[in-house]
Amino acid sequence: MEIVRAGEEGQTISREDIIFLLSTAEEEEKEDLFKTADRVRHSCVGDEVYLRAIVEFSNFCVQDCLYCGLRRGNDRIPRYRMTPSEIVEAAKNAQSLNFATVVLQSGEDPWFTRERMARLIREIKEQTNLVITLSLGERSYQDYQAWKEAGADRFLLKQETSSASLYEKLRPGKRLLERIQCLQWLKDLGYQTGSGNIVGLPGQALEDLAEDILFFREFDFDMVGIGPFIAHPKTPLGGAANGALDLTLKVLAVTRIVTRDTNLPATTAVGTLSPDGRRKALRAGANVVMPDLTPWGYRQYYEIYPGKVRVKEQGHWKGISLPSGRTWGKGPGNRIRSPKGSQL
Ligand code: SAH
Ligand code: SF4
Repeated sequence: MEIVRAGEEGQTISREDIIFLLSTAEEEEKEDLFKTADRVRHSCVGDEVYLRAIVEFSNFCVQDCLYCGLRRGNDRIPRYRMTPSEIVEAAKNAQSLNFATVVLQSGEDPWFTRERMARLIREIKEQTNLVITLSLGERSYQDYQAWKEAGADRFLLKQETSSASLYEKLRPGKRLLERIQCLQWLKDLGYQTGSGNIVGLPGQALEDLAEDILFFREFDFDMVGIGPFIAHPKTPLGGAANGALDLTLKVLAVTRIVTRDTNLPATTAVGTLSPDGRRKALRAGANVVMPDLTPWGYRQYYEIYPGKVRVKEQGHWKGISLPSGRTWGKGPGNRIRSPKGSQL
């Protein structure tokens, strides 16, 4: 297709062109899109697949997102909160398994105050060489600042959808502009900042997904997580259809072509939809995998959506075999600024 060729060469793709690419239905055209994204991935970020260990340390959440199993309105899951020393141990375990970076993720849990979290970050930094990524939701500028000063390196905060009306319907009481403000603070504070979206949310249009991709390009994120919506039976969206694998891969591929050198994970949600979902994602632009290193006793309760893939802790802990020509990355997998540049 002409548009993908133009994108591959680094020309700016318009909103209309993005919508056109997301609506491709012909097998041959989709293949062309995925293969082009794979080539852009190869030339802009190389063949290494970076690993990040994820530790889901608390499933308490004060928010009530309609799509998420951890929402405060779900009284059907046992809630857990790992102690700071358990979290440090989990981080040390990640280091002993040769991970260079750990992602600490949780619901929005106020028990982890600015000070408690800062102490925890300092302790992990003292006891390991790990690069630390946080994914704890929306907090104040001062919280983000204190954690950066304590040694946190990266932060993941998906904007979920760039449609303000959809966002505000799905996250009661929250405003999209506040989420974007948080992302701006994180960038200003010098975090390597990651965002992302959910594909296939009930009521989401292709135009909304195109806006997401334009937002990723405009904000120039270091990482973008793209995952399908997976309906959780104990939420108000329990009866809705899951997002489609195909559409998720198209959003991923176009995001790769447009953002060039951003780190793009083959998300757990993609792997949950289909057993070879993550492998397909790695061949359609993705270059990161995030194995779950949450201790076994807690893992089953971090049920954001049902059926999160069980990846084994050791041996096959990476959970997938790599497509040919790819190797596991050894270092922390910082974003590499590609001389092939962005489309801006
Ligand atoms: N509480 C923090 C981090 C944990 S939630 C936050 O909200 O930022 C991590 C991610 O899970 C969210 O960003 C959202 O994109 C994803 N998620 C939640 N429910 C989901 C569902 N039903 N299907 C797919 N992804 C979901
Ligand atoms: Fe809480 Fe995050 Fe789930 Fe929303 S998506 S309910 S903030 S854990």
